[in-house]
Amino acid sequence: MPYKFTFDLSRISRFFFSEISKASYQKGVHRKVGKSVQNMIKKFKIQEATGLNLSDAVVLLQDMIDMHSKNLMERERFEQAKKRVLFLPHCSRKHMESHCKASFDPSIPSYICAHCSPDCLVNKAVFLAEKKGYEVYILPGGSCVPKIVKTRGYEGVVGVACGEETRLSGELLGGMGVAGQAVPLIKNGCANTIFNIETLASIL
Ligand code: SF4
Ligand code: SF4
Repeated sequence: MPYKFTFDLSRISRFFFSEISKASYQKGVHRKVGKSVQNMIKKFKIQEATGLNLSDAVVLLQDMIDMHSKNLMERERFEQAKKRVLFLPHCSRKHMESHCKASFDPSIPSYICAHCSPDCLVNKAVFLAEKKGYEVYILPGGSCVPKIVKTRGYEGVVGVACGEETRLSGELLGGMGVAGQAVPLIKNGCANTIFNIETLASIL
């Protein structure tokens, strides 16, 4: 399920994302982030940059911190996983519908990238992950994740999606004993969305 608000953090300084990582580490150690979320919103002018109201900005940052914090907690188990998969969201394709040359296999369900655009984020992510031995799916939604993981026997999962989607999938996978790592979208909206390819590379 998407957020009820749209946001674009793709132009925010990289230093902001380092602060998110620091806060996530603190949360893992101390179980709280205290005032740091509100301080970060002020410091990086998140409301001005995104047009979000304060409560939506807090939700967004807290979700990002939770996501990073869970990544840290799961990392060791994930590194031991032998069969790994990457799930990408269809919304990050450069083109949607007929302009995207990917085929669609409804039996999975997943798009299969035809590599029509070298600068397409999904295309770059597919290359990166396949080179490292991952199997890759480009999903129309997150509800099929548990079925794919179970039927194909994946032990480690990397998922790119917006906060709500990754939280839902994370809960389901946690119940199945599968180690997960999440990469957040930094621009949402269900079309032409953006994730950080360097963040994905470091997670893979
Ligand atoms: S590179 Fe792949 S995912 Fe991107 S628009 Fe082309 S076929 Fe679709
Ligand atoms: S932004 Fe993308 S990942 Fe999030 S709900 Fe919309 S389509 Fe799914």
